[in-house]
Amino acid sequence: MTNEADIGDLPPESNARKAIGKRKRFEIFKRDNFTCQYCGAQPPTVILHVDHILAVANGGGNEDENLTTACEGCNLGKSSVPLAIKPQTLEAAAEDAKEAAEQVREHAKMVREAREAMEGVCWEIAEVIQEGASAGWSRDKFNGVKGFVKRIGYATTLEAAYIAADRYGEGSRRFKYFCGICWNRVREADK
Ligand SMILES: [Zn+2]
Repeated sequence: MTNEADIGDLPPESNARKAIGKRKRFEIFKRDNFTCQYCGAQPPTVILHVDHILAVANGGGNEDENLTTACEGCNLGKSSVPLAIKPQTLEAAAEDAKEAAEQVREHAKMVREAREAMEGVCWEIAEVIQEGASAGWSRDKFNGVKGFVKRIGYATTLEAAYIAADRYGEGSRRFKYFCGICWNRVREADK
């Protein structure tokens, strides 16, 4: 005999997902780079949940510090189960597929925005080294700047560009000097 009270009950994963608003959920995913903080899994092979580090039942709240990204398997305390072999109703499967697609889309958007921001920052530095760089520089030369930004950070690389600009007029000597300063900073950082 079917227990009517059970029919309307949502499975626990849906409850967990809905307990935190969508915007908040994606903010946490973004902060955690759309990666399960327990096992490293990423969508679309898993669906991400927001997990309460201190469970709500134990007094945990929805503050950012108490929230972390967990794949469904880790969140439910099971091993990671690929979506494809997880038994579920058609409706739940459709909802999971929609959620997985959205997680992938949002992650792709985040990566694209970070990439664009990185490119913008590096071209600003290139323009300090040489006016008109964005029109005339080769990709290799530009990637040199980008490599320094990745290794020693934006502020230090920009500072090196200004130091080189103050020291030398336009020309290849300025770029070489800029690279020299940056390599020194790289070596200092590696110590
Ligand atoms: Zn996991």
